[in-house]
Amino acid sequence: MRSVSIFGATGSIGQTTLDVISQQADDIEIKVLTGNGNVALLAKQAQQFKPKTVVIADESKHAQLQQLLSGLDISVQAGRDAILQAARIDVDWVMSAVVGFAGFEISLIAAQHCKTLALANKESLVCGGPLLRKTCDEHATNLLPVDSEHSAILQCLNGENLNTVERVIITASGGPFRKYTLKEMRDVDASQAAAHPNWSMGQRISIDSASMFNKAMEVIEAKELFDLSNDQIEVLVHPQSIVHSIVGFNDGNMIAQLGPANMAGAIGYALNWPERAVLDQPRLSAKDLVSLDFSELDDKRFPAVSLARRAIDMGGLSGAVFNAAKEQALDLFLAQRIGFLDMATLVERALDHYMLSDWSREMSLANIQFADETTREFVQNCLTEDVA
Ligand code: NDP
Ligand code: MG
Repeated sequence: MRSVSIFGATGSIGQTTLDVISQQADDIEIKVLTGNGNVALLAKQAQQFKPKTVVIADESKHAQLQQLLSGLDISVQAGRDAILQAARIDVDWVMSAVVGFAGFEISLIAAQHCKTLALANKESLVCGGPLLRKTCDEHATNLLPVDSEHSAILQCLNGENLNTVERVIITASGGPFRKYTLKEMRDVDASQAAAHPNWSMGQRISIDSASMFNKAMEVIEAKELFDLSNDQIEVLVHPQSIVHSIVGFNDGNMIAQLGPANMAGAIGYALNWPERAVLDQPRLSAKDLVSLDFSELDDKRFPAVSLARRAIDMGGLSGAVFNAAKEQALDLFLAQRIGFLDMATLVERALDHYMLSDWSREMSLANIQFADETTREFVQNCLTEDVA
């Protein structure tokens, strides 16, 4: 019997994780499920999967959740502290799938209390990759990527020596604006940006995919996970989203991983690593592979990846600055306070600001939280100046 906890159970990744688990339910016991606002879904999941503890981050929904789960032998809790406390419950496997910086501390605590940390929350690696890696090393915790591109790299590396890797190529679908001109992108709204052509995901990551900030985060994520330098990580636009990543080795051979554009395969791999288990999900046919297109990323229209590379070169807390600026800019875009292209402008400004700052560069949780808060304020304040 294996014990698992799922943080962000009500989200896109959380729901797919429960789908995958329900196919292997015989040998899995769920300890913790968490959500933020979706109390009805969290209650439904708790009724079905009978976890020991359920936590809703939004405290105003506590009573409602208690009522929906009354009579069941489940501890029903609410609030941020209760979520962090739930991350301290010892389990075999944790899915970290809260969206955004809110997931970072959860990953960091869970890394100290589980045997395997399945990481969907890429923000954890972008903001504090070295700290998370160190914590996992100290507690002998396996850190496994759930992001499809990084799961693909892990799959290509199975049985390989990491020292033989020369480079990786991660693919990007190109999102809904792949063929848009800069002028056309200027006026797009959130619903257009969230309409991803291939993947069904949460709203924030879908918009990050349209702006290529998702791919930018993934370049940093690949660097942190696989100890690669900036120039060992390439990005290739591949509209079919069938080839997820390619790894190039020191003998000139390359290995690619292919799969359908859904997260079940990557989640199942993280759940069963280093083995595989049967998964009921669509199969690619040979016909699906007849026409696979690849093209270079246009940095002019999509500057996010270049900004991420700059953050990598800057080091220190620049990943936390990059992420906070991107999250705050996305909030402003969702609130219709800025346009789609202004998000990159704001992230660039935040990196400039960090370069001139006298903050401590040391990577601690407190310093990362400081960088996050201060950068959000900085980006918000830019609005009163002349950015938009
Ligand atoms: P969703 O928006 O669909 O789900 C986010 C989850 O986090 C929900 O359970 C939500 O609760 C919860 N949540 C939101 N804010 C908070 C908070 N402040 N405190 C606690 N819980 C919170 O996101 P996704 O599932 O799409 O993404 C989750 C993570 O996985 C992200 O980091 C994303 O980048 C990454 N990822 C996602 C992929 C995908 O295909 N979706 C692919 C690769 C990576 P509620 O819904 O109840 O409000
Ligand atoms: Mg991805």
